[in-house]
Amino acid sequence: MANNETKVIDIFGISVFNDAVMRERLPKAAYKSLKKTIDNGLPLDENIAEVVANAMKDWAIEKGATHFTHWFQPLTGITAEKHDSFISPTHDGKVIMEFSGKDLIKGEPDASSFPSGGLRATFEARGYTAWDCTSPAFIKDGTLYIPTAFCSYTGEVLDKKTPLLRSMEALSKQAIRVLRLFGNTTATKVTTTVGPEQEYFLVDKDLYTKRKDLIMTGRTLFGAKPPKGQELEDHYFGSLKERISEYMKELDRELWKLGISAKTKHNEVAPAQHELAPIFSTSNIATDHNQLTMELMKKVALRHNLACLLHEKPFAGVNGSGKHNNWSMSTDDGQNLLDPGSTPCENAQFLVFLCAVIKAVDEYADLLRLSVASAGNDHRLGANEAPPAIVSIFLGDQLTDILLQLENGKAEGKEVYETLEIGVTSLPKLPKDATDRNRTSPFAFTGNKFEFRMVGSSASIADPNYVLNTIVADVLMRFADRLEKAEDFHAELKALLSEVVKTHKRIIFNGNNYSEEWVAEAEKRGLYNLKSTVDCIPMFIKEKNVELFTRHGVLSKTEIESRYAIMLENYIKTINIEALTMLSMAKTEILPAAFRYCKDLSDTVNSIKATGCPVDVSAQVSALTEISGVINSFSSNISALEKAVEEACAEHDAYKEAVAYKNLVIPAMEALRADADLLEAIVPKDLWPFPTYSELLFNV
Ligand code: ADP
Ligand code: MG
Repeated sequence: MANNETKVIDIFGISVFNDAVMRERLPKAAYKSLKKTIDNGLPLDENIAEVVANAMKDWAIEKGATHFTHWFQPLTGITAEKHDSFISPTHDGKVIMEFSGKDLIKGEPDASSFPSGGLRATFEARGYTAWDCTSPAFIKDGTLYIPTAFCSYTGEVLDKKTPLLRSMEALSKQAIRVLRLFGNTTATKVTTTVGPEQEYFLVDKDLYTKRKDLIMTGRTLFGAKPPKGQELEDHYFGSLKERISEYMKELDRELWKLGISAKTKHNEVAPAQHELAPIFSTSNIATDHNQLTMELMKKVALRHNLACLLHEKPFAGVNGSGKHNNWSMSTDDGQNLLDPGSTPCENAQFLVFLCAVIKAVDEYADLLRLSVASAGNDHRLGANEAPPAIVSIFLGDQLTDILLQLENGKAEGKEVYETLEIGVTSLPKLPKDATDRNRTSPFAFTGNKFEFRMVGSSASIADPNYVLNTIVADVLMRFADRLEKAEDFHAELKALLSEVVKTHKRIIFNGNNYSEEWVAEAEKRGLYNLKSTVDCIPMFIKEKNVELFTRHGVLSKTEIESRYAIMLENYIKTINIEALTMLSMAKTEILPAAFRYCKDLSDTVNSIKATGCPVDVSAQVSALTEISGVINSFSSNISALEKAVEEACAEHDAYKEAVAYKNLVIPAMEALRADADLLEAIVPKDLWPFPTYSELLFNV
C-alpha cells in the first residue's frame, strides 16, 4: 500500500504514549493512580513512576526507540533535548535496556548554555527537568520524548512551560469558584483550550541557500518589490501546487503520527504563504504540539527541497505571518464557558466569563501586548495587514448592544431587545457564524472562543497563553470574592456586570482596526499603543504586573526580572545579527556587483568611443552617472550603519542599548536597504548576487 494511502485512523497517534496505550499497558492500579496525577495534579507515587517508566520503555523499544530525552522549552523560545540511550552495561560485557522511574521523573541537564537572565550563578550550571505528565510522551526519530518543565538548581523556572501550567491551575481555581455560585456542583476543574492557526512561507531551498539573510536571520534584509505582489489576491485559498500539496500531505502524516490533529490547510493571502490549523486541545498540549508542528514544518520542507520560513516578516511589502491563538475555557463536565448556552442561567454565567475576559484584557492590555512582542513581530503589528499594536476587543454589534443594555438597562444599538433581566431572560440567539467577522481586530470573539491574532508566527504560544490565563484568573478571583459575599446574588451580579461594561467598554471596538481614525480614537480612549518591543518590555516590571504574577504564583519577582533581562537581550541580539548580516551582504555581495556593472558601463563607453564612430553614448553615460550616485549613497549608508551599531554596542545598560538599536540601528538599516533596492532595479540580473523577491515568491 502506498504511504499516502495508509488509513489516517491507523496512523493517528501511533507514536504517542497516550491514554489508550497507558490503559492497555499499565496495571489497573497504576493506570488509575497516574490518571489522578494527570487529571488532578496529585503527586505521583514513586513506585507507580517505576511501573510507568518500565511500560513506557517496553513500548518505546518495541517501536524501535533506543534513546530517551527530557524535552523542554527554555527561554530561547524553541525546544531543547539531550538524548540518553537506554543501554546499561552488565558484568558479562553485554548491555540491558534500562529506564527507571527516576529517569522518567527527573533529569539534570547542564543548564549553563540556556538563557537565565542572570538567575543562575555561573558556578551552578546544573538545572532540573521534571516530567510533565499532562502532556503525553512520544517517539520521534528513534527517541522517546518526555515532555518536561525546566528550572534552575535553586528552583527558579527557566522555561516557558512552567508558568503556563501554573496559570492553568490559577484559572481553574478561580473559575470553579465562579461556577459554584451558579450552582454547578459537578465540575472539578476548568481547563483552558487553544487552537493555534499557524502561518508559514515555503520557498525553494536552492534559492534560499543563496541568501545569507534568510539563512542567518530568517528574513530578507534586502529586496525590491516584485512587479506582482498579492494585489490580485489570486493565491488565497487557491488550488495547491503539486509540490506544495505533496509537502502538506507528508506534513499531515508526520503530525498525525504524533497525535497532532492537523485539520485544515490552505494557501494564504501572500504568494508562497500557507496556513495549518489543528483541532484545539488543552493549552499545555497545544503549546507542545505547536512547537512540534513548527519543527516538522521545517524538517519536512527539506525533504521536498523547500525551506519553510516561520519568521513574522520574511518579505517587506508582502503579508507577514502570525498565529491566531483561539482560546477558551472548558469544564471537566463538558461545558465551554464562552458558549452562550440556551437557558437564562447559562446566559448569565456566559456573560460573567465574557465580562471577566473584557475586564482582564483592558486592565492588562500592556501585558498582552508584551506577550507577543519580539523584534520579528514589530514588523507586523501595526502594518497594514496584521492587527495593530493597539489591543482592543471585537464583540460584534449584537453582543455589544447586549452589554450596553446591561450597563444602562436599555439597548443603544441598532436592535432593541426585550429588557434583559440577568438570570431571568434568555439572550437572543447569537449568530455563531456572523459573516461580518472582523478580520482586523487583534482580539475577536468568534462565537464560542476568543481569537488572539497578535501572536507572531515563530513564537512559542506559551507566553500569550500564560498571560491570558493569569489575567482572566485574576479578574475571576475578584468577581468570586465579591459575589460570594453578596446577600442578593442576582442584584450583585447585575451591578457587577454593569460596572464592568461602564469601566471597560473603551476596549471594545468593532470597526476597522487598520484605520488612522482608530489610532486617534484609541488614544482618546486612553488605550495603550505600544509600537515596538522596546516600548513593551518595561511593562513587565511594572508594580501592578509583578503583583499579578506573584499573587497567582505564576512567576516570582526574580523570575520576572530574569525574563525581562532575556527579552532585552533577545531584542539586542536579533537586531545586531541583522545589522551585521546586512553589512556583510552590502560589502561583499551588493557593492562588488554594483562596481562590476559600473565597470561594464565604463568599458562600453570607452570601447564605443574607441571605434571612432559618431555614436551618441549619453544613455550609457547617464546610466553610469545614475548608478554611481546610488553607490555613493549606499556606501555612506554602510558607514552610517557601522557607526550606529558601534554606538549601540557602547551602551552598558541593556535597556539603553535596546533603545539605541531601535532608534539608531533600525533607521540606518532601512536607509541602507532603500539604496540596495534601488541598485537591484538597475544592476543587470546576471550580476545581482542573490535571488530576487520574484524568484523567491513565485518559484514554488
Ligand atoms: P476559523 O476561525 O478559521 O473560521 P474555526 O473557528 O473553525 O476556524 O477554528 C479555528 C481554530 O479554533 C481551530 O484550531 C479550532 O480547533 C479552534 N477552536 C475551536 N473551538 C475552540 C475552543 N473552544 N477553544 C479553543 N480553540 C477552539
Ligand atoms: Mg481564524
